[in-house]
This record gives sequence, C-alpha cells and structure tokens, in this order.
Amino acid sequence: MWGRIGRLGAGLMLAAILAGSAAAQPLPMARPGAASAADANDPLGALVDRVNREQTRPSVTPIVIGLRLSEEAGRTRFVVELSDPVSAETFVLVNPNRIVVDLPEVLWRIPDAARPSGRSAVRSYRYGLFRQGNSRFVIDLNSPVRASKPQLLPPEGAQGFRLVVDLVPTTNEAFVASAGWPRENRVAGAATRLEPPPLNTPRTGSAPGKRIIVLDPGHGGIDPGTHGGSGVQEKDLVLQVGRKVRDALEATGRYKVYLTRDKDIFIPLKERVTIARRVKADLFVSLHADSNDHGEVRGASVYTLSESASDREAAKLAEKENMSDIIAGVDLSSEDTPVASILIDLAQRDTMNRSVRFAETLVSTLPRATTVRPTTPHRSAGFAVLKGPDVPAVLLELGYLTNKADEAVMITDSWRGRVAEAVGSAIDRHFAGDTASTIRRAAN
Ligand SMILES: [Zn+2]
Repeated sequence: MWGRIGRLGAGLMLAAILAGSAAAQPLPMARPGAASAADANDPLGALVDRVNREQTRPSVTPIVIGLRLSEEAGRTRFVVELSDPVSAETFVLVNPNRIVVDLPEVLWRIPDAARPSGRSAVRSYRYGLFRQGNSRFVIDLNSPVRASKPQLLPPEGAQGFRLVVDLVPTTNEAFVASAGWPRENRVAGAATRLEPPPLNTPRTGSAPGKRIIVLDPGHGGIDPGTHGGSGVQEKDLVLQVGRKVRDALEATGRYKVYLTRDKDIFIPLKERVTIARRVKADLFVSLHADSNDHGEVRGASVYTLSESASDREAAKLAEKENMSDIIAGVDLSSEDTPVASILIDLAQRDTMNRSVRFAETLVSTLPRATTVRPTTPHRSAGFAVLKGPDVPAVLLELGYLTNKADEAVMITDSWRGRVAEAVGSAIDRHFAGDTASTIRRAAN
C-alpha cells in the first residue's frame, strides 16, 4: 500500500509540474524504439519518453490502479488508470474475435474492475502478465469493432494517468481485414514468441545419475484457468502444488526438477513442450484443476495423450485446456500446424506406453492424499501440452473447483502438501519400482 501511494504520488507530481502547458491534450504515445520526442515544445511527450526509458529499471514498474468500462450506443470505452505513463498498442485477433491491448509490464492493483454487461460489443475481458516485460488486456468480442489508437491522458483531480481505448462497431469484413499483429511487430513478435523462456539451470546432462522431471503448473499470468467460489484461481493453486512437488522430489537427491513457470506468468503451450524436450525430461507432469457444470462432480483424474478421446468429457476438457493460447491472445495465424491438431506417429508409441504406465501409478497413489474420481480416473484425449513425441507426459486434474467439498480442501496448505507428496511418491515408484517412499516428509 505504501509503495502504491508513493509511486502514484511521484507520477502525479511530475505531471503537475508540466500540467500548465498541456494538461488538456492527450499525451502522445511513445512507441518502443521510437525516436526521442524530448522537445521543449512537447514536455509531456518528453516525460513519456523518459519514463519509458526508465521502465527498464524494475523500481519504476507502473501500477494499474483502476479500470472503467462505459458501454454507450455506438461506442464502448475502456479507461485504464495508471500511476505512470506507459506506451500501449492494440491489435485484432480472429477466431475467436478479440482485441488485444499490449502494455509494458505493469503491476495490477485493481480493487473493483468493471465487468461488461454482455449486451454490447464486449463479452468479457482479462488482464495479466503475458511474458517478461509485457502485460496485456485481452477483450473477447460479441460483435466486430474497430479499436481506436490508445490515448494517454495526464492526471486530473484525484485521477492518475488514464489510457483510453474506444471500440466502435464495424463490419465483419473490415474487422477480419484488420486482424493480425501490427505490421512492424510481426517478424520480431513471431521470433520472440517462439523462443522458450530461460530456465534457471539451462545446462542439460548436468545432473548425472538424476532423473529429469518437468512439472508444468498450468495457465498463469493473463490466463487464470478456472476458479472456485472462494475466489481461488487454478493458476495459483497449481503453481503452489508444483513447487511442493519439486521440493519433495529434490529432497530425495534422485531428481533434477524444472518448473515451466515459477511465477505468475503466461507460457504458451508449445513452449511448455519445448522446455521439456530441451532439458531431455524423463517425465512431464502438467498440473491443473477442473471445473464442471455439475457441482456434484468431484475428485482427481489423470489424462494421457490420444488421437481420439476416451470419452466426451475428456474431449471437452482437452478442448478447454487447449484454449490457453487463445485466452492469452497468442497469434496462432502463422503456425503451420495448429497447436490442437494431434497426429501421433509410430515413434511416439513407446513414449505413450510409458505415459500410460505412469498414469496408472499416479491413479493408484493419489487416493492416500485426496479423493479420486470413482469411475475411470485415467482418461485420454488430444491435449496439446502432452504432445512432446519423446517425453512421457501426463496431465493431472487435481480436483474440481466447482465442487464445494473439493474446493474446501484444495485451498488448504495441508491438502496441497499431501497431494504433492503423493505425486512425488508416484514419480519415485515409477522410476524406482514399488519401493518404500522416502519423500513423505519433504512435501510439507
Ligand atoms: Zn487447466
């Protein structure tokens, strides 16, 4: 709280000094890499440039402190209130239709973000960290719109800097024609998006005699996953369980464990697979929590990859989990193979057999820690994140956040510790044979 007030105060003071000359004018948007607009005739532009340059220092991460949405006939307006000026850029994605607003990395301190009525152009929206240095809003649309160039307004009264984006109705043809990354970002954007994030220990083969395990806490950043009635979010729950499994496994001295993410950040599905392949993982475990329209459905279940789903529910689940990239606003238009298309070749059969064997071990170990779905707890479908052809992989749904009893235990630290111990123990059994587990204590 102190930090927030201090930061906002500093931003407001800077602006107040300059307010006499140009307070009523929108701030010019400084684009990343654009020539400096430092000019005596344009003091606010110079301020934006200076703050943008300073944003490389973590101490000046701007804070989003408010979010308003006004839905009028013929115009929907987003107003993002910030402690400091930022540059912003919008672009259009189709299938499903979305507007993406990209910002530098910001901190989110929004006490009561406005929700759309659902009756105008905006169906829903979300925000969060997309990748290091890049936060974003993704706006899901009911109908085609044209987004205005983002405008930055200086502080006024009690309000901080405001970033304004207007959405006005347009034709479907015009919307589709405007889709894709801004032209100047297309090449650079595509290149950075394919680069996997750095791992804390990027050397492979540096742990002789140790099995390499990649744990994959699902979702993250701008993609929260599902959520429970208590407000618990899937992305936070699975990250905490992932860390506990890692600690339990590493405490045995037999495993080198990587997390695909160790913070609240979005990682595209393909990159998760790439990470596992790059470190030559012996096993990949993707961690999730599920939701269901039927509140009575509860218990953990384990999924492996298959071309055709074992049942309708598994197919629906894979579809939902494969939506992660779309939710986060990843531009998939230049991908040659759609992330969700699953084609399994013969070389993958051995990997799949190992995956199935681990899934069965996991299903038989979990009941000592948590409720497991009573019928067919091991299912299969086309999960994009399980597609690595040479890495045995399973996806674990820890339980249902839509079930009251499941959620009540899933929010407790003791349940998370027990489940982490059971997952670690199943991994240990998978590799060491059915020996007594020595990692029980390490999970808590
Ligand atoms: Zn999930």
